[in-house]
Amino acid sequence: MLETSEKLFERAQQFIPGGVNSPARAFNSVGGSPVFFKKAKGSILTDVDGKEYIDYVGSWGPMILGHAYEPVIKAVQETAAQSTSFGAPTEIEVKMAELVKQMVPGVDKIRMVNSGTEACMSAIRVARGYTGRDKIIKFEGNYHGHADSFLINAGSGALTLGTPSSPGVTKGTAKDTLTADFNDLNSVKQLLNEYKDEVAAIIVEPVAGNIGCIPPREGFLSGLRELCDAHDTVLIFDEVMTGFRVSKGGAQERYGVSADLVTYGKIIGAGLPVGAFGGKKEVMQVVSPDGPVYQAGTLSGNPLAMAAGYALLSELQENPLHYDELEEKTTYLYTGLQEQFEDHGASVHINRVGSMISVFFTEEQVVDFTTARTTDETLFKHFYHKMLEQGIYLPPSPFESWFLANSLTEEQLDDTIQAAGQSIKSALSN
Ligand code: PMP
Repeated sequence: MLETSEKLFERAQQFIPGGVNSPARAFNSVGGSPVFFKKAKGSILTDVDGKEYIDYVGSWGPMILGHAYEPVIKAVQETAAQSTSFGAPTEIEVKMAELVKQMVPGVDKIRMVNSGTEACMSAIRVARGYTGRDKIIKFEGNYHGHADSFLINAGSGALTLGTPSSPGVTKGTAKDTLTADFNDLNSVKQLLNEYKDEVAAIIVEPVAGNIGCIPPREGFLSGLRELCDAHDTVLIFDEVMTGFRVSKGGAQERYGVSADLVTYGKIIGAGLPVGAFGGKKEVMQVVSPDGPVYQAGTLSGNPLAMAAGYALLSELQENPLHYDELEEKTTYLYTGLQEQFEDHGASVHINRVGSMISVFFTEEQVVDFTTARTTDETLFKHFYHKMLEQGIYLPPSPFESWFLANSLTEEQLDDTIQAAGQSIKSALSN
């Protein structure tokens, strides 16, 4: 059925490592050939064999209003006709910075980069330059991109593929990354006390999304804020997934906690390669050329990327109803899935925050890395392929969040719920 995908995958494997340009899209954990796509509109993807799928990956986040969203396409086309890059300032960069400031008032200054990885990598450099300290604290299973400092107990593809701590990261780098447990303030306190005056930053996914979706416990984020204040440590929210998604102002707005620095990716570029880091004036003032912390990029603030991101963000800014609709749609899906799994006697915990949702096949509440790992991976694998057969495209790993788009229709949600019932029935009898 996936004949052309399979053929392309065979060719790809000859010249591209694992046949893919990013491991999270490989099918190593669910088995089989990854699906190759040729086009998409709204929430419908079309693969190279012409089969259609309802999309719950949304390019891992950017497609919050669906694929080929008209204002984005128009902005890219019009901008491309005026040149794809200048390597010099443009007006759209200024408009973008002003718009982000409106949507996220805590972001006094923002610097555009080309990916979420770059954003997080730069943010910790800024925090180190600002504090004059070397160490950072991250959380087990959180993913902040593939820069050396983060590939220690990481999530996402690194976890799915069994390499949460990657070879190739030097011992010197690894020793400066301390790992705490998500949702466990005591584990953070212990590290801050043990490494007194050495910790430059705490970086956290405010809603964990790279071990599946895990909400922060009540008081966890505000507790991090207090600890950072007490220890003169920079608090970095990695909002690459949650930014402009869990609310207009991201997790900072949703949970009422402000970070010192924040990183973005995904939605901020509407599907073009963009990231950004920003935050409080006093911290951002160390960034070159205002200050001594060097950070640069030939294509940073690229006009195509800025035009696409601006078109999407301004729609989200002007029509906050999108967020209400996304909440409603996700609640609808959550309730429907819950009913189907109960009817078929599956042990399941579904976590959700806004339009991020994950299904864990386990009897345990999933609150951190350890409990996420209790999910039945074999059951997920069977479930995954049954969903795929029925035209539902989910992230190909039990440790990823699904991303809903506001282009999803009630009929598509109903089809997904029905397919989930069939899929779990079949997976359980396997
Ligand atoms: N931070 C988080 C929270 C992410 O989810 C990701 C990517 N999934 C990154 C950082 C890295 O972003 P990119 O893949 O654009 O480098």
